[in-house]
Amino acid sequence: MIVATGVVVALLALPFVMQTTTYPVAVVSGNSMYPTLQNGDLVFFRAPPTTITNGSIIVFVQSGTGITALDSLLRPVLIHRVIGIEHEPSGATYYQTKGDNNIAPDPFVTDSKDVLGVPVVVIPYAGLPILFLQTPFGMVALSALATLYFLSGVDSKMEESNEKKKLVALFARHSLNGEISPKQFERLQLAVEYYDDIAPDLLTDPTIISTIDWLKGGGLHTKWEERKIPCPDCDTPSFCIVSGDKSFLICPKCCDERVASRGSIG
Ligand SMILES: [Zn+2]
Repeated sequence: MIVATGVVVALLALPFVMQTTTYPVAVVSGNSMYPTLQNGDLVFFRAPPTTITNGSIIVFVQSGTGITALDSLLRPVLIHRVIGIEHEPSGATYYQTKGDNNIAPDPFVTDSKDVLGVPVVVIPYAGLPILFLQTPFGMVALSALATLYFLSGVDSKMEESNEKKKLVALFARHSLNGEISPKQFERLQLAVEYYDDIAPDLLTDPTIISTIDWLKGGGLHTKWEERKIPCPDCDTPSFCIVSGDKSFLICPKCCDERVASRGSIG
């Protein structure tokens, strides 16, 4: 957990560390810079130095709109080598670029304002998953996964609501048979409905505390069953909900007595 947090903080801090105006990571697409860079390489870059020398590799956007942060999202990011530099009298600088593996130079020049940075670290192939996700098949695969994830959440919610219904129906049967009081039934029903948002240490009725403990322990998500046993305290026929090694007991006599005695105090 601490390692994960550290990684997230480090990733968020990257633009500050690299002093770039955009997120300083690019993925190499294609082999125009082979063998220096290969398709799928993940490139970390830092802000360009004040003077870029002939022969340096630069990360830039092609024919930008002038807003670098926007360009890096909308325009393809290119990583090519500078093979010529033009200084205009106006003060603007343009770079002629070329891919090492390309025969011809790029058919455009790049304004120094469109240079995002210079590569500092290259992780071979680490960008391949990103390239894959950009393909139509990758996008379909990603949306399929997202849908499955969403549906599995819906599924487990539906399963929980079914189990809630079954448990409340069980309490209802005991209430209809006169084994627990309508008041006790109502309390148990409230416990099942709201257990997720109630802190057990704010509760006072031991029967409800053990019921909520069981619910919070994931009782509804396990295979549970009812067992009839005599109450260990008063020997009254009671019932127990059991799942694995967790259980809670409802004694018709004890639970009503406990609530009644507290009712008389408060
Ligand atoms: Zn009892």
